[in-house]
Amino acid sequence: MKRTETRPISVGGVRIGGQDNVVIQSMTNTRTKDVEATVNQIRKLEAAGCEIIRVAILDGDDARAVKEIKKQISIPLVSDIHFNPDFAIEAIRSGTDKIRLNPGNIEDEDKIREIVSLCKERKIPIRIGINAGSLNRKYKHSEEAMIESAKDHLRILEALDFRDVCLSFKSSDPLECIKAYTLAAETFPYPLHLGVTEAGGLLNSTIKSSLALGNLLMQGIGDTIRISISDDPVEEVKVAKKLLRACNLRKDVPNLISCPTCGRLQYDMLPIVKEMEEYLETVRKDVTVAIMGCPVNGPQEASRADIGVAGGKDSAILFKKGQIVRAIPQENIVKVLKEEIEKFERS
Ligand code: SF4
Repeated sequence: MKRTETRPISVGGVRIGGQDNVVIQSMTNTRTKDVEATVNQIRKLEAAGCEIIRVAILDGDDARAVKEIKKQISIPLVSDIHFNPDFAIEAIRSGTDKIRLNPGNIEDEDKIREIVSLCKERKIPIRIGINAGSLNRKYKHSEEAMIESAKDHLRILEALDFRDVCLSFKSSDPLECIKAYTLAAETFPYPLHLGVTEAGGLLNSTIKSSLALGNLLMQGIGDTIRISISDDPVEEVKVAKKLLRACNLRKDVPNLISCPTCGRLQYDMLPIVKEMEEYLETVRKDVTVAIMGCPVNGPQEASRADIGVAGGKDSAILFKKGQIVRAIPQENIVKVLKEEIEKFERS
């Protein structure tokens, strides 16, 4: 797939844009000033595969906490600031790797100049985040208006010769997201941060985000993604990884194939799928694993799997690339699959 080339930015050493890997982001839901809780959550997100983390800055204490949080985490940190330029300045001084801020919402021009000059000095990019639900009242709600709004904010930064910029155009409507980001990719050279906002709980968000982001990614649009879910943010990272894998944009994520089961099933397959799904979330490997219901169709249906099992009567056969290897009793299936995955290396 040909990816749209954008002007790359560096966020604490992680490159967003060009035609690089699509970077996975998430956001904490702790109080940022509660350093211990925030660091704990970021570490869980890091372990799950999050590559850049964003924290909300609501006051000076949050902005100052960035310094301590940064010392205890290994991924770049973005400070999300609305309206108050002093918090942005404080977060930059605390060592944030990027800020999310809309300069058009700040009236004090001297403060904007100060933020931009600090960002230039420290090579910190700025994300301008346009949300369909909070457009300036001078605009009528439309995707074109979202683009015009971004231009307004960009003019301020470009006039100060600042171009380390990333843009987002989020809406809670996935179809509106597709249109807005498609227009943005035609209009701006800057990297795009994709996301459907206020997308609901796990199931709703997975459907809406996969629809919008999947469509955009398959057009080659998008440099970084955040799946927004009303749940533990670790779920966001899991969905993001699986979506990128399904779009063939990430190789370091396993792929699980499993059949829906039918009347031919003669072993207890569903708990095995559940356990293996959880296990595979901890694996960083390009491996396709199949768990199939029966030996009649299983190995054939999953012949592209690297490793797989197809159930028999209270047992399963192990197969590799569609070729049968041996039989395994029900109670050993998970153990054998894990051993095979551990040994697996793509030749
Ligand atoms: S693999 Fe076998 S059990 Fe699973 S859906 Fe196909 S026929 Fe049914």
